[in-house]
Parts: sequence; C-alpha cells; structure tokens
Amino acid sequence: MSDKQDFDLIIIGAGSGGVRLARMSAAKGARVAVVESRYLGGTCVNVGCVPKKLFVYGSHAGEDIEDAAGYGWNVPDGQVTFDWTRLVANKNAEIERLNGIYGRMLENAGVTVIEGTASLADDHTVVVGDRSFTSKHITVATGSWPVVPEVPGKECVLTSNEMFYLPQLPRQAVVWGGGYIAVEFAGILAGLGVETTLLYRGELFLRGFDDDVREFTAAEMRKKGINLRFEVNIESIESEDAHYAVELTDGSRLNTGLVMAATGRRALVDGLGLEQLGVQMSASGHVVVDDQFQTAVPSITALGDVIGTPQLTPVALAQGMVLSRRLFGDGKGEMDYSSIPTAVFCQPNIGTVGLTEAEAREAGHKLRIYRSEFKPMKHTLSGRDERALMKLIVDDESDRVLGAHMVGPDAGEITQGIAVAIKAGATKAQFDSTMGIHPTSAEEFVTMRNPVA
Ligand code: NDP
Repeated sequence: MSDKQDFDLIIIGAGSGGVRLARMSAAKGARVAVVESRYLGGTCVNVGCVPKKLFVYGSHAGEDIEDAAGYGWNVPDGQVTFDWTRLVANKNAEIERLNGIYGRMLENAGVTVIEGTASLADDHTVVVGDRSFTSKHITVATGSWPVVPEVPGKECVLTSNEMFYLPQLPRQAVVWGGGYIAVEFAGILAGLGVETTLLYRGELFLRGFDDDVREFTAAEMRKKGINLRFEVNIESIESEDAHYAVELTDGSRLNTGLVMAATGRRALVDGLGLEQLGVQMSASGHVVVDDQFQTAVPSITALGDVIGTPQLTPVALAQGMVLSRRLFGDGKGEMDYSSIPTAVFCQPNIGTVGLTEAEAREAGHKLRIYRSEFKPMKHTLSGRDERALMKLIVDDESDRVLGAHMVGPDAGEITQGIAVAIKAGATKAQFDSTMGIHPTSAEEFVTMRNPVA
C-alpha cells in the first residue's frame, strides 16, 4: 500500500457500517481514519435501534406490571407511577457507555478518529476544519437523516432524533407516518400513557409488509387504545399556547401536545462535495454505487443508508465486511439481499422474513398458505386481550417455505431462527418434521398442518 498518502482508507461516518469497515480494514494492516461530526455508533446506537428498544422495554413494562395481577401479584390501583426523565437519563447513560465502547474499539484496532465535519477537496483529500488528510481510498458512510414533509408549521414537528431527548411526555401526541418508526413510537407513547393518534396517508399502514400482518397489527394497536387514522394527511400545523392545532386533509382538526414525523429518511450527504467530484446521485438522493460499493470515482466508495439499500444495521455491517475484503483482503464475498429478516418493535412485535403472500403471488408461485391466530399462553392468566398471528407462505410445487411472518410477543426473537431455515431453503415438510419446543408460541411455526388457502 502506498505511504505517500496519510491513510490507506478514510471513512466518513462512524456508524454501524463505517465502524465495521474501519475495524476490519485496520485488522488487515491498513492505515485507517474515521471522521465523525456527531457521535460514535451513528444512528443505531444514538438515535435509533438501541435507544428505541430501551424505550420499548420501558413502555411495555407498564403492561407487564398490569399482567402480574393475574399471576397473584398485588398491583394497587393508582400506586404505580412512571418517571420519564429517569428512563431518558438511564437510556442516556447506557448510550454514553456504548459510545465509550465504540471509541475504545476503534482505538484498540489502531484506527485514528478525527472529530469534525468532513468535505472532499479532491478524490483523495478529505478536509476537516482547517486540516486536510490524504488517502488512497475514501468511503462515504454518512447514513441518513429524518425527512419532514413541507407543510406550513413543519418547524413545530419533532422527529425520532428529538424524541429520544424529549424533556417531558405530553398528554397527547400525533405520530405522522405509517412505517417502522411511526408504529414503534406510537407503541412507545401509548404504552407510557400518552393519548396517541397515528396518521397515515394510505389505506393501511406498513406498506410492503404482508397484508395479514398489517391488518392484524392495526387491530392489536387499536385494542391498546391507539387511534389509527388512515387515508388522511397533515395539511398544516399551528402552535397555540402549549398546544398544536393540526389541520388534516379530510377537513378535521386535532389538538395535540406533540407532533412527531416518522415520514422517512434521506441520505445525508450535505456539504460533502460529492457531485463536484463526479460521484453520481440517484433521483432519490442516494449515492450511486455498483455491487462492490464503487461510486463513479475510482477512489471513492460508499455503504450503508447513504446508498439506498435497506436501512438496517445488519445490512450496513455486512456491507462493511464485504468492502473491507475487497479493498484490503482477498476480495471474496458479496452481498446477498434476499430474505433479510426484520422486526418492527411495535407492541406486539412484528417479525418477518422472505416473501409476503402478495409478492409470492406476483412472482407467479402457486401457493399454500398456513395461518394461525391464537392467544399467547401468558394471557390466559393475565386476562389481556392480545393475540398472536403466524403465517407461512409455501410454494406448492417445491414445498419450499418462501416467507414467514409473525405478530406477537417476541416475534423478533423467534423470526431470527426461522430466517436461518428460510435462507437454507427449508421445505414445509422439514418445518413439519422439526419438533416443537413446548409450550412456546414459536412451536406454532412447526405445527401448522392445514393450509387456509
Ligand atoms: P419508512 O420508509 O419505513 O416509512 C415512512 C412512512 O412515511 C411511510 O408510511 C410513508 O408512506 C410515509 N410518508 C412518506 N412521505 C410522506 C409524506 N410526504 N406525507 C405523509 N406520509 C409520508 O420510514 P421510517 O422513517 O419509518 O424509517 C426509515 C427506515 O429506517 C425504515 O425503512 C427502516 O429501514 C429503518 N428502521 C428500521 C427499524 C427496525 O429494523 N426495527 C426501526 C426503525 C427504522 P407510504 O407508505 O405511503 O410511502
């Protein structure tokens, strides 16, 4: 490797993908620097997956306390209280601990961390404040940022970034959007006692998920008192005293203490100067790369949310490993974006892997559909009216399981194992010949015998 340059690799962005690429590359002997303007660990650690999951635990604890009554615990009415500021403070302490771990991991790997905002002076030079650094390779791993639609009053709207540091909980909240973040935050807020309304512009939220999952999730969320309003959008927002008046497209008006937009995320490339160097951007604002993460400029690569592949931490981690092997290793390994399992941590959770029924039909498969809906055992004594759904999409000809979908407690945990089977091409006969683990909800995935369609 050339030592005429300061580094072999400069990575812009210390999120999941950037940090993995840095550590893997340094371990292969490369001289690596990471430039970060905000926080080590990126969205996932600071304002995404990790604090979100902690908030979901916090929110769900309320139900767990209520459910304990059916198991003999005395839970006196009105004596259980919740302290939002303590949850936020404890969450902040945990995030700081993780930031420290990330810093030490990079340091121990021999990676130079440069704090500040980067821009590219040329295809081998990164400028940070009044310093500039040269490198053989530069990787853009700057991630994504929430987008708030252009409506009058958009400055009143919070995004997930601010929700993680909200000084106090409002009595009422409006969550705007119908994707992952919207349903997760609607669940968090409602679980903490906030009167929550979710507004979605389409017919049914969670577009792209299996239709049964979408309907089932909507029904379960409604049971928990969340006001789901579909086919409606926000027209304008006005701040009135400590409240917001939200004007909707159906002519109605809502008064609320908070409006949170969860209306998608855009690639974060502001001020990098990529286009001036000849890096191409897609119509959706993502950095265009080939399947080897190569941009149109030979020395510049990009990975993670910024390239428009699924915005998921494990995807960015896998990309970091593939790119490191390409730049400094044997070049082996490529990304496989098929059957990526995901969970949505709404309450109850969604877990999903493989094709939805609609996708499988569209792809021309003749299908067998297995579907089971039941009350999880825990709720026999808790008395809670919560149900679970499991669904398998099977190709009738080959007997291969093309997709597995679940709504219910621990769906994320359960789906991870099912994903291995689906990735390995398991057939329904192999699911059927697998012993169940009794008594669990998960065993339902290996005991569904009669197709419903
Ligand atoms: P999503 O893309 O999942 O959802 C955006 C939502 O906003 C959609 O319902 C979309 O509607 C709606 N929307 C977009 N533009 C407008 C508009 N102008 N007016 C009204 N509604 C609008 O984005 P999120 O912000 O929820 O999350 C971003 C990504 O982060 C996710 O796609 C996911 O990859 C990742 N993520 C993953 C999590 C996990 O793994 N558990 C958790 C959180 C985030 P429509 O459907 O009609 O387009």
